[in-house]
Amino acid sequence: MSEDVITSTARIHALQNAVQFNGKANIKAVTGKVIAALRKDNIPPQKIIPLVNKVVTQVNALSLKQQTTELKLLAPELLQKGKKERDFSLPDLPGAEQGKVVTRFPPEPNGCLHIGHAKAAIVDYEYARMYDGTFILRFDDTNPDNAVEEFYAAQKEDLRWLNIAWDKEYCTSDNLEKHYRLAEQLIKDGHAYVCTCESDFIKECRFHGKECDCRSVDCGESIDLWKEMLSSGLDGAILRMKGDMICNNTAMRDPTLFRIIDKEHPRQGTKYRVWPTYDFAGAVEDSISGVTHPFRTKEYELRDECYFKLLELLQLRKPHLMEFARLSIEGMPVSKRKIKPLIDKGLVSGYDDIRLPTLQGLAKRGITPEAIKQFVLSQGISKVESTVTFGLVESFNRKLIDPSAKRFFFVPHPIELTVSNAPQKKKTIRLHPTNDALGSRAIQTDKTFFIPQTDAEKLQVGDIFRLKDLFNVKVTKKNKKIVGEYLDEELIQNSAKLQWTTNQFLPMDVFIPHPLFKDDTYNADSLEQVNGYAEQATASLNTGELVQFERFGFVRIEKKDHSLIGYFSHK
Ligand code: ATP
Ligand code: MG
Repeated sequence: MSEDVITSTARIHALQNAVQFNGKANIKAVTGKVIAALRKDNIPPQKIIPLVNKVVTQVNALSLKQQTTELKLLAPELLQKGKKERDFSLPDLPGAEQGKVVTRFPPEPNGCLHIGHAKAAIVDYEYARMYDGTFILRFDDTNPDNAVEEFYAAQKEDLRWLNIAWDKEYCTSDNLEKHYRLAEQLIKDGHAYVCTCESDFIKECRFHGKECDCRSVDCGESIDLWKEMLSSGLDGAILRMKGDMICNNTAMRDPTLFRIIDKEHPRQGTKYRVWPTYDFAGAVEDSISGVTHPFRTKEYELRDECYFKLLELLQLRKPHLMEFARLSIEGMPVSKRKIKPLIDKGLVSGYDDIRLPTLQGLAKRGITPEAIKQFVLSQGISKVESTVTFGLVESFNRKLIDPSAKRFFFVPHPIELTVSNAPQKKKTIRLHPTNDALGSRAIQTDKTFFIPQTDAEKLQVGDIFRLKDLFNVKVTKKNKKIVGEYLDEELIQNSAKLQWTTNQFLPMDVFIPHPLFKDDTYNADSLEQVNGYAEQATASLNTGELVQFERFGFVRIEKKDHSLIGYFSHK
């Protein structure tokens, strides 16, 4: 009886696996599935394994078409899952209409973009594409203390690198006159007032839920004060929305809408001194620019109430405000506020430092825009805050670059090896184990080689190892250098296979990024420099090429004054 159960279960799993993998089921994969499926029936694996082997052989003898037909009959639901690629699609947007969705990405031009911004930009952009809608790039540059000329262009460059295109672009600071008109309307309608209290006092009143005297000033006088603020007086005054000073949500306790920042602005010069806060500019811009589905990170959740209240008071359209969790990555500063001090203090070399999660830093170390996109979409738009490891980004990247990255030998910390009786050889070695199109290179060998120090240290006199893709060597002497003798070329099972170069090598430094923070403190050893020798064939590589140094890792190459530098991407 149990044999029938095993055979029929195995048949279904073997068919499913075969259909998924081009007609050939894998015994190990199928066995695992069958054992798991029959665990509840207490059938021991020893009984299962031989039957699975038999079934897999039978199934693999069928054509893919026969397998598909049979699986359709036995378990059609498995067929649908069949060869499905990983699904990176985003969930539907509430109240979205095809052709009418408008999203926006609103960076503040106060630094280069990082992978957290990429999350926001990709989600906004993908939704606009999904609904055949419009995607707006809006520079939220209404704080002249922060806005810096060079970052407008730099952020656009970052977005282009991500392959994100926008349908419209504008700067919030270009709309200040409109903001002023709306502010005046609010004051006239009795919904906002100029507050001249000291900031500590304002804080205290907010804390205790007390109104200050400024709140009861009549509209006409408030308008005069507002005009004075705009022209040149009333230093330190702010414009506040009349919210609710005893509201449980403290964000509603008469939030600040405008404040005076007397500083030259990179676009507007000295034209303005009164600037809207994020509460005002964010809500107003989303509404008047026609955004239907603005996304914000979850930390703004408490401010949503202000957002809607303000639009209500201004009688402006309310968008479907959406929230997702801020992206955080272990050991990495995913915030301009944390990145900038590192640059200012010289703890990293700049925005393109390979330890940073900035798009420039990631690009430099060979993380592709497509990997970032897949990573971001795999995270989705949940509100659950979590810290992910960078390994996730790496695994998307690895899958993307592995099929086309040329393989080379790189010997970190090289140690000389002399093979006394080595035959001279011109050895042709493939540049990729499976991708024929990448071709091969020929290496001329002699008696002198270099092998990695970590491998050399483990060798003992008498040991036999293999110079990978070349021949076997027996160690005869070991001091600072290694001496050995040529043995033969037959592959020996389980012998160590070492990377090597001849004495025709290219000295190369590879920089390896490690976490910038450990337990929240700066990791002084976060940038490792590995000196090594790369095989001669790497000399033809160009800046930007992603290669794999065998047994070392994937590396992005940069050419600098005739020599090459490597930036380690990941294993
Ligand atoms: P930072 O701390 O990096 O300055 P920010 O939110 O002040 O963050 P902005 O330039 O104002 O930076 O952000 C533009 C957009 O990118 C916003 O919609 C913001 O929510 C989003 N964003 C910024 N950082 C992250 C992050 N770590 N994860 C997800 N989205 C982010
Ligand atoms: Mg900001």
